[in-house]
Amino acid sequence: MSTLDFTLSAGPVATTARTLAALGAPITYHYDPEFLEAFRRTQEKVAQVFRTENDIILMQGEAILGLEGATRSLVRPGMHVLNLVQGVFGKGTGFWLADFGAVVHEIEVPYNEAVDPEQVEAYLDAHPEIELLTVVASETPSGTVSDLSRIGPIAQARGVLTLVDIVSALAGMELLADEWGLDVCVAGAQKCLGGPPGVSLVSVSEAAWKAISANPNAPTASYLSLTDWKEKWLGQGVFPYTPSISDIHGLEACLDQALEEGVDNVIARHRDSALVTRAGVRAMGLSLWSADEISGFCVTSIALPDSIDHTELRSYVRDRYGVMLSSGQGAGNLIRIAHMGPTATGLFPIVGLSALGRALLDLGVSVDVGAGIESALDVLSKQRN
Ligand SMILES: *Cc1c(COP(=O)(O)O)cnc(C)c1O
Repeated sequence: MSTLDFTLSAGPVATTARTLAALGAPITYHYDPEFLEAFRRTQEKVAQVFRTENDIILMQGEAILGLEGATRSLVRPGMHVLNLVQGVFGKGTGFWLADFGAVVHEIEVPYNEAVDPEQVEAYLDAHPEIELLTVVASETPSGTVSDLSRIGPIAQARGVLTLVDIVSALAGMELLADEWGLDVCVAGAQKCLGGPPGVSLVSVSEAAWKAISANPNAPTASYLSLTDWKEKWLGQGVFPYTPSISDIHGLEACLDQALEEGVDNVIARHRDSALVTRAGVRAMGLSLWSADEISGFCVTSIALPDSIDHTELRSYVRDRYGVMLSSGQGAGNLIRIAHMGPTATGLFPIVGLSALGRALLDLGVSVDVGAGIESALDVLSKQRN
């Protein structure tokens, strides 16, 4: 097996030296005043990147913890919930909702399409009993995005709360939590921020807190509890449990880097890398998995011919060329070159295209690797102009 030279997978991703150094900072007591300061600063920086003035909660577990905690906190038995499904994570949310007792309504489209906001509007108008809408901003396994700039306000205008998975959207696409009326947003650090996997970043609006406190099923005295964080940490300055000192320092370092660069510039960097990759994929003679208008910037998803299996291709590229890509993760027979955090820049997409193109040739798929690289470099060169 080749050594691992490049991680171009869809998270966790490579971190910068500065983030690694922060992760290696001394471990202190969690009530040490310096750590308390760092924790509060980190919350504020998360709010800035989310573009929200809502409460921020940092839970000690990968984003699935925040997503499950938020879903359990909001869902009352018998509550009508509209779940938008255009990929693997949206589908999974629906199983949770049903488990937690919701009456689940779903708008589902094939995993290379996006739910039409007009359909959401019509559905909510026809079903005024719906109190909560759940949606994934960026469906990482398929590489598509939801139009939250329209879906958020549609829900808000009807008094419907929104619970949004922004795990791979944060810093990878425009996201204006308050302007778009997003009540609860959940992210992780290990995608476009290029941070450690292990922290859930959650924002909660006033309206969502009201719904949570009125919900007898909202977890309390539990690792999954948002309420504990509100009452203990936000209310009394007492942690419900010990946060990972290292992860918080790592997260703060990522946020500092994003804020120093400017969140809009970080997003532009992700977009540029996606555009370079798309051009290369097309010129190589391959097909993109979804249309450009609904594709996100954090990953480029490439449809594979039936003769090639996505997980075998992923292993082949890693073994032979030392580049870690991502496979379809349940979304379909596709391979993904990710552009996340420190790899969303410059020649990283070219590395991904080269490894993928040559691997496909090795495996008997006729692709024009040279034309792909040329086209990708043309786009990159113009971006740098
Ligand atoms: C990465 C990711 C998560 C976190 O889930 P994992 O299975 O732990 O990776 C949740 N939602 C989305 C959209 C993600 O990209």
